Amino acid sequence: MPSVFSHAVAAAALGAVMVDSPPRRVVWGLGAVCAMLPDLDVLTISLGVPWGHVLSHRGLTHSLPFAAGLALVVTAIVSRWLAGGQSRLRLWAFFFAATASHGLLDAMTSGGPGIAFFAPFSDARYFLPWRPIVVSPLGISAFFSRWGLEVMASELRWLWLPAAAVILACALTRRRRTSEIASDVERHGARPS
Ligand SMILES: [Zn+2]
Repeated sequence: MPSVFSHAVAAAALGAVMVDSPPRRVVWGLGAVCAMLPDLDVLTISLGVPWGHVLSHRGLTHSLPFAAGLALVVTAIVSRWLAGGQSRLRLWAFFFAATASHGLLDAMTSGGPGIAFFAPFSDARYFLPWRPIVVSPLGISAFFSRWGLEVMASELRWLWLPAAAVILACALTRRRRTSEIASDVERHGARPS
């Protein structure tokens, strides 16, 4: 896996593109949680669940059906309490994309088991043909090693910098749109009817 924070960063970039009305930050935050949640399945290692089992690491919680289901639950909660101007379909699409991005990024890593994209309907495990991201160690101690440094450098290049570019581009576009609207209102307000 990329490290858990990198999954949250990927969700933030998706949020910048897909969520355009308040409460943006709350929705982004929930999207980040959705993107990190699939790795809870590492707990099954200490429970003795064998590799390759549907509940093992990169199994059910990394699948597209899981992403769709989690997005439904989170959308139901958010649209009840925090919806703002977002349509339910748009919210669902964002939470789905944020959760599914986790499996997709894991499928671009250099190691670990493949991703069960279609669990529970299929046990097949997949990687993408292009796998530039150095796989992150599961234990914290291994992270403070040469391997950990390679992971950080790889994630900076393939995740953090592209995500920062997307977030910046979206912020600039939004700011330009807002100032265009403001100057339009000013012009029309000044013009006699
Ligand atoms: Zn993962």
